[in-house]
Amino acid sequence: MSEPLYGLLEAGGTKFVLGVATGRDDIQATTRIPTTSPAETIGATLEWFATQGQLTHIGIATFGPVGLDQSSPDWGHILETPKPGWSGTDLVGPMQKRFACPVAINTDVNAVALAESIWGAGQGQHSVIYFTVGTGIGGGVVIGDRILQGQSHPEMGHMRVPRHRDDVNFSGVCPFHGDCLEGLASGPAIIARWGHSLSDLPDTHPAHEIIAFYLAQASVTMQAIFEPGRIIFGGGVMHTPGLIERVRSQASRLAAGYFRSKSEEVISGASLGVNAGLLGALSLILSSTS
Ligand code: ZN
Repeated sequence: MSEPLYGLLEAGGTKFVLGVATGRDDIQATTRIPTTSPAETIGATLEWFATQGQLTHIGIATFGPVGLDQSSPDWGHILETPKPGWSGTDLVGPMQKRFACPVAINTDVNAVALAESIWGAGQGQHSVIYFTVGTGIGGGVVIGDRILQGQSHPEMGHMRVPRHRDDVNFSGVCPFHGDCLEGLASGPAIIARWGHSLSDLPDTHPAHEIIAFYLAQASVTMQAIFEPGRIIFGGGVMHTPGLIERVRSQASRLAAGYFRSKSEEVISGASLGVNAGLLGALSLILSSTS
């Protein structure tokens, strides 16, 4: 049997990032295609993949919401989205039709959760939670080396969190819930009340402890539900110097020594860097074939 050749797609709301690989250490060629209309963007994706050789598998880590029930007709389709033209778009079908190979798909957040659990900050752990904190807050759960989901992917960014005592007047930015976790601690929520990103606010600004407080609550909630071996925080907001240490410290205080693992040892920054999305797509393929 010939060597496998994996087509990797990180489908984002502003751009599609494409790569090919034969394994974890040789993502050989990457390109970026702007996310415009589905016909244009998916068409350009198919054309680029077609120039890369005979693909044996394709992995897609996509923005959501996306249908993940393989027995449902909307499997692999983008579901209702405010992104113009993309609601109902079939991401998997055009790949299967063009390349006649298996296609694995999941959300970008779940894919990175899986990749971090295999190669990144969760390596060696079989139970890993991943949060991305950026323009929104998303989360993925990997238990027993598999992505966990109910009827759809988790929506951990919309969990409720008690308010910080110095943050009671801000109503939050989530259009559905106001002051859910995403409504209070995402990048836009930070800018909405303090006018700057967290990394642009001085180290002594109370925003740092307030945001760490909310993320620490999310972390401790996940410990209470899953007792995971690792809770990983990635995304743009987490580039703020000192934030992960503050989250560890506050989570440790909130957990009060109750759980099997110490919060400060469970919590980690993400470690896969710029290729996390493509590695996520690869991890979906490897997981689906193992
Ligand atoms: Zn919400």
